[in-house]
Amino acid sequence: MTDHDTDTDIAVIGAGIIGIATAYYLKKADPRLKVTLIDQGQPMAFTSAQSGENYRNWWPHPLIKHFTDHSIDLMETIARETENRINMTRSGYVLATRLLDVNDLATALFAGYGDDPDKDIRIHDDSTSQAYAPAGFEQWQVAPSGVDVLCGETLIKKHYPWYGAGLRTLVHIRRAGMIDSQQMGQVMLEQFRQWGGKRLQARLTAVETKRGFVLVFDNGAEKLHTAMAVNAAGPFLNDVAHLFGLELPVRNVLQQKIAFEDVAGAIPRQMPFSIDLDSHCIDWNEEERELLLADPDHAWMAREMPGAVHCRPDGGEKGSWVKLGWAYNETPTQARLEPQFDDHFPELVLRGAARLNPSLKAYFERLPRNRTHYGGYYTMTRENWPLIGPMAVEGAYVVGAMSGFGTMAACASGELCADWVLDGDLPAYAEQLSLQRYQNTNLMAELNAQQDRGLL
Ligand SMILES: Cc1cc2nc3c(=O)[nH]c(=O)nc-3n(C[C@H](O)[C@H](O)[C@H](O)COP(=O)(O)OP(=O)(O)OC[C@H]3O[C@@H](n4cnc5c(N)ncnc54)[C@H](O)[C@@H]3O)c2cc1C
Repeated sequence: MTDHDTDTDIAVIGAGIIGIATAYYLKKADPRLKVTLIDQGQPMAFTSAQSGENYRNWWPHPLIKHFTDHSIDLMETIARETENRINMTRSGYVLATRLLDVNDLATALFAGYGDDPDKDIRIHDDSTSQAYAPAGFEQWQVAPSGVDVLCGETLIKKHYPWYGAGLRTLVHIRRAGMIDSQQMGQVMLEQFRQWGGKRLQARLTAVETKRGFVLVFDNGAEKLHTAMAVNAAGPFLNDVAHLFGLELPVRNVLQQKIAFEDVAGAIPRQMPFSIDLDSHCIDWNEEERELLLADPDHAWMAREMPGAVHCRPDGGEKGSWVKLGWAYNETPTQARLEPQFDDHFPELVLRGAARLNPSLKAYFERLPRNRTHYGGYYTMTRENWPLIGPMAVEGAYVVGAMSGFGTMAACASGELCADWVLDGDLPAYAEQLSLQRYQNTNLMAELNAQQDRGLL
């Protein structure tokens, strides 16, 4: 590959988890390649530092399930090779609903796990069922696969007595859990450097096209001549694409989380990542509700809010923190290095999550002092599928639009991007995850019609 005029064979712009994984799989494929990983700041310091660190193989579309399953395979390989330095656990995701009509949910489950439904989808509809293995502190190696569906409040209460009343169905996704994403980035970065990969700290400000690309930086860093370039700039994906004269179909939406020390012991440590699927109105008292409704800027908080507010214990069996999140924001925005968070979010997410976990009410208007309110951008396409593959300029590639799934999809995304760059064997889903999918009118019609985009 090496052209002796170039300083590097491949420049990867962005050292978040996605750029790091791409650089890692490029070097893994061919350690002789000269790969330079470029970031304006420290590695893993922007969106990748905000991840909720959850992973799951539950997706509304089988292609994305297949892609994420492969990414989890690759994460498990790293866990195995490092004696689980990445702290992979697998207590699953629990999806809870009070609705009687669960047809949409069942259709999605069969689309994702229907290849072998007898094995992968286990329905427990007898309140005395003994066959269900509830979540504990499972090691990923020994945890079950597939999905358990618990029907009826009696059975749900038997296994999860702490959840609020009225639940009718609970879906337990088993190949799901938590991962230490900073450690995962670190493991890949260390290996990349051992293989001779280079890092450069500078902000890319211009690109000249000359037998490959000449990359120009802002801090007096020398120009870098590269044969190929990979855009892994996270929320700045389009800013970097513009330097190549291109526009990508992505937008940024700010999402927030809170974490706090669970001093009241409200959340059992063995509770899996738990998602309340149902939309609802937050239970403000009458006076609060009237005040909110009278204020045009805040009335939305008193109206129906979407489902998918989520809660999980953080720090394992001996930890004492909990994390809450709710990706209800849909307004695209310009990415900034220091996003502004909404001061109302902590109270909203706490009240929203208390519907499934009523013990959280202990914290209404008195969140512990030990707490953080954080977040970052979901950089996403309209259909919420990633973009991995060639851009419209020869030698330039993109790997991004990782929305709220970039940690769990990083390994498969990095590996796939490396295959595109090195002309390797591409998996069956490669085209659909690249910009080429926009030429596939049937696929795009299907994706544009989907109600559930797997957004959490
Ligand atoms: C609140 C929140 C919770 C999340 N929870 C989860 C979760 O539970 N599980 C999961 O799988 N995913 C989760 N995600 C998603 C995941 O964190 C992201 O998809 C992932 O971190 C994106 O990584 P990235 O490398 O694409 O972007 P980033 O981490 O933002 O990296 C991009 C890098 O590019 C650099 N850069 C940009 N422009 C330039 C330039 N011109 N020159 C040099 N450098 C440049 C930036 O400095 C940055 O470091 C969550 C995201 C958020 C915001």
